[in-house]
Amino acid sequence: MRIARRATDVSLSVTLALDARAKALMAEGRDVINMSVGEPDFPAPAVVQDAACALIRSGNVRYTAAAGTLQLRGAIAKYLTDTRGAPYETKHVTVCHSTKHALSGAVLATVQEGDEVLLFLPAWVSYVEMVKLAGGVPVSVPSRADLGPDFDAIRRAIGPKTRVMLLNSPSNPTGYTWTRKEVEELAAIAVKHDLVILSDEIYRRLIYEGEPDFSPASVSAEARARTVILDGASKSYAMTGYRIGFVAGPPEIASAVERLHSHLTGAPNSVSQAGYLAALQTEPPEVAKMKAEFDARRHVLIPELLRMGLATPFPRGAFYAFADVSPYLDARGSAGFCEDLLEKGNLALVPGSAFGVDSHVRLSYALGVDRIRAACTRLGAFVAAHPRAPASTRT
Ligand code: PLP
Repeated sequence: MRIARRATDVSLSVTLALDARAKALMAEGRDVINMSVGEPDFPAPAVVQDAACALIRSGNVRYTAAAGTLQLRGAIAKYLTDTRGAPYETKHVTVCHSTKHALSGAVLATVQEGDEVLLFLPAWVSYVEMVKLAGGVPVSVPSRADLGPDFDAIRRAIGPKTRVMLLNSPSNPTGYTWTRKEVEELAAIAVKHDLVILSDEIYRRLIYEGEPDFSPASVSAEARARTVILDGASKSYAMTGYRIGFVAGPPEIASAVERLHSHLTGAPNSVSQAGYLAALQTEPPEVAKMKAEFDARRHVLIPELLRMGLATPFPRGAFYAFADVSPYLDARGSAGFCEDLLEKGNLALVPGSAFGVDSHVRLSYALGVDRIRAACTRLGAFVAAHPRAPASTRT
């Protein structure tokens, strides 16, 4: 069968592929520690499970409106109004099957053939593919050494075809969380050059220290008018399998995404909408406990990495660390490093190449402290067995 070019050009998400390989080895009986996963290792809060079960048992599991139930859109609008310092209404919100779905809908609705989209490296795996699928041209912008934004590089990357910037704070894969000043600077650039900011705020509720996260939508009315917020329940409420998220922004973007999705996917899952609504209405106590646990793990993992000599900026948010393994890379780069580590060291990490930065690897700390310590022992033994390449020959 001939498969269309737009599909053959896309590879399977590296993180999902790695997770699958690690699980296959585990199924063979190997004691693999999987630090490649991007999902909280906690169950969804009880109130979510109850609401989902109650809807199923009511027998009333039906299509909803393509943009989601009015009740859920209202709850999301209230949450945004309370947290972004600007009024949101249901007309600003379209519920989607996930944040990934919200992102792809927003990209399809804002990127035209040939438009350039700025991606701040390291950038989450799916952004490049989404932009290309929409006919856009991804333009990678390198970061500072501490993995924060390099504004000179951002300004240099903007050309006549630039239309959109994709911001992700806190970031996957680094955990870097933009400061208020940095968000304000980006918003000013967007206003000056008439650019849209797609702001992926999925890790917003997982910030452990310093100033709270600050959205471009909170900067000013001008900035808000060009900001599209993408968020969902996966990381905030440990609801990855429920698949539910949203797009929020000016009414024209919310209704554009609704129109696209009304043909491509139809109404979001009504059971997951009921679960998400319950979570937003009650602020379940499990969420604060999950956050405290991630915070504690961060304080175990990063010092261990530093002790091994792997330069790793201390992440302020999300549940990832991004460690520099450049001294240990051969010609295969970070992919080869991760392959060997999995096959010989029984530890699954994600190569930085998946995020456009080949010198690093991503470690997820969505696993218990004992496993994190065991993983560090394995990684320490693996790097100790590798001769450090002299700086001049590093890739
Ligand atoms: N955006 C980022 C930065 C992510 O890391 C992820 C999931 O890993 C998503 C979006 C997608 O989340 P969802 O499960 O809601 O599709």
